[in-house]
Amino acid sequence: MDIRIGNGIDFHKLKAGENLVLGGVEIDSPIGTVAYSDGDVLIHALVDSILGALSLGDLGTYFPTSDKRWKNADSMLFLTFANNKINELGYRLLNADITMILQSPSICEYRNNIINNISTKLNVNSNQISFKATTTDHLGFIGKKEGIASFVSTLLIRNEN
Ligand code: ZN
Repeated sequence: MDIRIGNGIDFHKLKAGENLVLGGVEIDSPIGTVAYSDGDVLIHALVDSILGALSLGDLGTYFPTSDKRWKNADSMLFLTFANNKINELGYRLLNADITMILQSPSICEYRNNIINNISTKLNVNSNQISFKATTTDHLGFIGKKEGIASFVSTLLIRNEN
């Protein structure tokens, strides 16, 4: 069996008045991510985990910040790109395990929307996408609400021919 694991990690700065988009879902928050694209830290880590599993580099390889096309880009476009790579190379996604690390706001009420959004985009069942969130108990830059992080592990399996 050809099973491949990938890990993705992303961090963004948080600032008052910026938008916070996680998994393509707009979060009601007084602080949001500072980024070249829409700053969807969850999707960036997820895409990196998929590209990592396929040994295809990372998000910046395909969507460099030097390219004006990706200014304020909807990061769900990046996820569509990654999903196309999975299909092109003859794999399918077994599961993705997403962990968000942020002090606030609380995002548990968005959990189902985020899972539905991602599983629809990846054409998998919602139970193949796991979503959880933790804080740093007020420690460090995340604890001070200066930043946000996402860690994702993804497992892919090659289709039988
Ligand atoms: Zn990012």
